Amino acid sequence: MLYWDYAAAAPPYEEVVQTMEQVMKQHFANPSSLHRAGTEAEKLIKRAREVCAAALGVQAQEIIFTSGATESNNLAIKGAALQYQSRGRHIVTTELEHPSVYESCLQLQKLGWEITFVAPDSTGVVEPSRIAAAVRPDTVLVSVMHVNNEIGTVQPLKEIGQQVKAVNRRTLFHVDGVQGYGKLETRLKEWQADLYSLSAHKVRGPRGTGILYVREGVMLFPLLTGGSQEMGNRAGTENVPNIVASAKAVRMSGERRQELSSRIMPLKNRLEQYISGIPELVLNSREDGVPHIVHFSYPGMKGEVMARRLEELGMGVATRSACSSRLAEPSRILLSMGRGAAAALGGIRISLGDNHTEEDVIQLEQALLTAVRSLKIAEGGVK
Ligand code: PMP
Repeated sequence: MLYWDYAAAAPPYEEVVQTMEQVMKQHFANPSSLHRAGTEAEKLIKRAREVCAAALGVQAQEIIFTSGATESNNLAIKGAALQYQSRGRHIVTTELEHPSVYESCLQLQKLGWEITFVAPDSTGVVEPSRIAAAVRPDTVLVSVMHVNNEIGTVQPLKEIGQQVKAVNRRTLFHVDGVQGYGKLETRLKEWQADLYSLSAHKVRGPRGTGILYVREGVMLFPLLTGGSQEMGNRAGTENVPNIVASAKAVRMSGERRQELSSRIMPLKNRLEQYISGIPELVLNSREDGVPHIVHFSYPGMKGEVMARRLEELGMGVATRSACSSRLAEPSRILLSMGRGAAAALGGIRISLGDNHTEEDVIQLEQALLTAVRSLKIAEGGVK
């Protein structure tokens, strides 16, 4: 089967697997232990922090390791909201966000915070002035993702950061960078980001490790207590093999960003053009979107049915994002762009990675055409 789901999980680099094995075997000690084995494990984490900081152009003490971007996003949003509630209880975010941001906000809403969800335009991009217009004196946090995980659209973070800070310079700016890192430039300073989340397994690291950049001077109310690990931001014995291997993946995918993007961008463009030429399909990703995500709908056809047919044809694709793929409801993201319920139910995400070739894309195109034709016949021409 050809794997087209890099946005859900990318295969780890060989070096990542080797590092994990080596650290698991040789550095099993608890980094908080005072003996030499412990301090050696602690040194490995220190080094990993420096590697991630260098990749992001920030300071080592601004990097926190977590169990994944879901935790990074929860900590960024709830940690900031709880820490700074004396400044106000208002948060601005978008309707495009990943559930780990979106539902963190809904949880705070239940506890009395006011949340403004800004809608994107019909192409899945948020207008910076609409974000800025929602910012008030009591707005503690603005959270906007770099790249949408379903349709791959890129948000104008520089303009959003500038405009938000112009309205209220004390409002913190959080960016969920999960689908952008390693494909697009990460410019935390230019965006004026105070908080930035990453996930290791999207950049060919291990599953179960995330990173949260917390700008110096920003405090978070810890969600996990019971230890002073991660500078008091997250209690619990550190996952040393995952942390060391994740730092390696972050460094390698940062270094290979341009090479990867320039290789897969033509594949994405080719695929999008092909999909645009099939009358039954509606393209939802944009030409200027992230290089690794192509998304389309077959209105009236459930995404799961299309995905199953493609799997029979040897193609492993996703129906929207992995975190929402078991939901039967239409895509919240497509609905927020004004797509109808029929299109929002029939979404398919194809995500590209290092290993894909033009040959693979040609095979996928043929499978897409075969799938559409056979489903159309099976439905008696009624979609
Ligand atoms: N944010 C975005 C944009 C994502 O795509 C994902 C992964 N689906 C996450 C957050 C959550 O990351 P993790 O799987 O590491 O918890």
